Amino acid sequence: MTNQDDQFKKVISHAKEYGYVFQSSEIYDGLSAVYDYAQNGAELKKNIRDYWWKAMVQMHDNIVGIDAAIFMHPTTWKASGHVDAFNDPLIDNKDSKKRYRADVLIEDYCAKIEAKIDKEVDKAAKRFGDSFDKAQYLATNTRVVEYQEKINTTLSRMAKSLEKEDLADVKALIEELEIADPLTGSKNWTDVKQFNLMFGTKLGASAENAMDLYLRPETAQGIFVNFLNVQKTGRMKIPFGIAQTGKAFRNEIVARQFIFRMREFEQMEMQFFIKPGTQKEWFEHWKETRMKWHLSLGMGTDNYRFHDHEKLAHYADAATDIEFKFPFGFKELEGIHSRTDFDLKQHEEFSGKKLQYFDHEDNASYTPYVLETSIGLDRMFLAVFSNSLVEEELDNNTTRTVLKLPAVLAPVKAAILPLVKKDGLPEIAKQIVDDLKWDFNVDYDEKDAVGRRYRRQDANGTPFCITVDHDTLEDNTVTIRHRDSMEQERVKIEDLRHIIKQAVDVKTWLMKM
Ligand code: ATP
Repeated sequence: MTNQDDQFKKVISHAKEYGYVFQSSEIYDGLSAVYDYAQNGAELKKNIRDYWWKAMVQMHDNIVGIDAAIFMHPTTWKASGHVDAFNDPLIDNKDSKKRYRADVLIEDYCAKIEAKIDKEVDKAAKRFGDSFDKAQYLATNTRVVEYQEKINTTLSRMAKSLEKEDLADVKALIEELEIADPLTGSKNWTDVKQFNLMFGTKLGASAENAMDLYLRPETAQGIFVNFLNVQKTGRMKIPFGIAQTGKAFRNEIVARQFIFRMREFEQMEMQFFIKPGTQKEWFEHWKETRMKWHLSLGMGTDNYRFHDHEKLAHYADAATDIEFKFPFGFKELEGIHSRTDFDLKQHEEFSGKKLQYFDHEDNASYTPYVLETSIGLDRMFLAVFSNSLVEEELDNNTTRTVLKLPAVLAPVKAAILPLVKKDGLPEIAKQIVDDLKWDFNVDYDEKDAVGRRYRRQDANGTPFCITVDHDTLEDNTVTIRHRDSMEQERVKIEDLRHIIKQAVDVKTWLMKM
């Protein structure tokens, strides 16, 4: 097992042990790629959603939020292109009978070469010390240049073949690269086929009258069909945005990466309507703004990168992903797409209704262009959770497991602990809980020695432990312990709210953007 696998396994078991994520219907052996958020997970997920909503909706005068239904008129999905083109290329291994996404097999192959480049860079950095110039090394070291060329030619050939729907060439590429089934090593592959990812269902009681519906595979279309309603009732002037968060459903071919790829998941999307011709500037603007949002959480600049798309979706004239370094390598976390007027035009055509904007300044009507930012809430959860989980060596040669969640996102902000279960200490601790819970999600914990309680709260990601002891009875002070530094200070009970607020307030964090 590699280090990466090991770390990922730890993330999954920690998420279960500490009440963050459970497999759906576990007592029936679970349902593949469907997960439930538990008591702490639901709070963390809500905090991430709120952090996004604050930044994207409430802090922008020209962006509003909606909550469209999951069910939509079936013609929506004809207009959007999903009925005809929302496919992934699948390939089966004849020996193992396992199914894979052909494009993902090829991307993983390239990721392995990239890991080799990283290794070479690390080695060289050690060898050259302070004088090491990474950019120069990447551009001139023959082996590294060859690796990079191999990645580039492979990905661009794949992009071209997928674009042309030349699935035979995608298979040929897999065979030429000698890609084997990652589970069994077999290279005995079927042809590559297209597979539609939408889930179908029926609306209506009687079989004859029932209408075929789809569970939405993205939230974006709920925004496009409401474009005029929102624009008119909100008296919105271009440029303006409509945002929403909500469930989306995809019958994913391979779903073996915990909450990274689920069949039921949640998206946080914003469609920004602009004047045609201004899309380049807005694309840059939203790339930068969204990256700043990520960086405001302080999870390390090195863990993010942009990846511009080689293969553009049928609706896009530019697209980039913000990739994050998950335990299994850099993968897409968020997409930023310049969607042109494709969606609104399609809905105009299929509905027969005009979806245009009258620009008073220009005294003319036009179909707006759209810039989309689209992030998976569950993927963001995994990014935050996996990045935060660390094993720390302590001075006394012991280790502690600590979940260093950004305090603004932590499910429980503070745990209040009476040092002992007597002498009136629990009563004071409970009073503090009752007072703080108006402002924060807090916990009361009186079981076990205080050191063990600290460890439990560290592993749970709680930024503060507040201990009530005998001195509290004398002078109304308590000990506040900081999760990351483990430092302890003596503070007045009446100052607690202010101290915690400073550390966990959305404003404090978003001001860093
Ligand atoms: P991928 O290439 O990983 O399948 P995508 O390019 O199809 O993703 P988009 O259609 O751009 O994804 O969706 C926007 C965002 O929604 C993605 O960046 C991702 O964070 C999230 N997302 C997409 N599919 C899933 C899924 N099956 N499970 C969890 N999150 C998802």
